[in-house]
Amino acid sequence: MAKLLNSKQTTLRDRVVVSGVGVHSGKPVEMILHPADRNSGITFLRVDREKGTEFEIKGSFSSVIDTRLCTVVGHPDKGMVATIEHLMAALVGYGVDNVLVEIDADEVPVMDGSSRAYIDAIDQVGLKELSAPRRYIRVLKPVRVQNGDSVGELLPYNGTRFDVTIDFDCETIGVQHFDEEMTPDIFKKEVSLARTFGFVSDVERLWAAGYALGSSLENSVVIGDDQKIVNPDGLRYEDEFVRHKTLDAVGDLALAGAPLLAHYRSYKGGHKLNFNMLEALFSDDSNWEWVEASVPSRNSARVAPSHETGAIQVAMGPETN
Ligand SMILES: [Zn+2]
Repeated sequence: MAKLLNSKQTTLRDRVVVSGVGVHSGKPVEMILHPADRNSGITFLRVDREKGTEFEIKGSFSSVIDTRLCTVVGHPDKGMVATIEHLMAALVGYGVDNVLVEIDADEVPVMDGSSRAYIDAIDQVGLKELSAPRRYIRVLKPVRVQNGDSVGELLPYNGTRFDVTIDFDCETIGVQHFDEEMTPDIFKKEVSLARTFGFVSDVERLWAAGYALGSSLENSVVIGDDQKIVNPDGLRYEDEFVRHKTLDAVGDLALAGAPLLAHYRSYKGGHKLNFNMLEALFSDDSNWEWVEASVPSRNSARVAPSHETGAIQVAMGPETN
């Protein structure tokens, strides 16, 4: 319900450094999350320290250039930043509206394969409210996409709800379902720790193609040919697989450019389906509208049209958080 609507935009209180390796390149990466101005959103600043060059890439679905193994944003002629989804999930899932992500390699550091390290980095510096109302993208009518047996739907909803089902032909995973209101608290506790996963049988194929060179039991849940979990410590959640797919969906849909007011349903989805969902949503202006949270002044949420912008103003009460 409306209690999900924060009234003000946020950024980080200070800059914070996250260092690690790229899961596909296996190479070291230094990433610095910087505070950013209101209405600037999430922007990547790709720097090349040897060449002394830098350029910006908007953290938006219009910047996406690949979704096969991970979500990649970039310019065809300048360069890219790959594997952005777990970072995007942490930022938007945890309520950070504006941040500049400085990065000195082609890939976000994979850390432990979940969003935990990015959440820890945000917690280290804390959030600051900015003097601008938070903007949301409200879905106005059902939008559906289908790729083979993958199906995604965005439905009108007064909140942000992720409803994800996976169905793997593998007894260790099988059918799993996760359905929650995606508040910052639920994202942190129930989703952010879920790691990416893969099968031993796929790893050699990926290595031969030059991918997953930084992949290890330190940053993936690995399922062996005998269907057993290879990681000695097992799983973090009994249904860690569907929670990771939910994490990916939160990160991919963050590329909308603002938090969604919608119920997202995904069946057998992945990065491509999530991306196609945003393409379908924004292909028709009648599918969505901007919503602004107004300055807190009332005890309960109230929705009224704004004649100036055509957007809907959502008035928030102080105790509705
Ligand atoms: Zn992932």
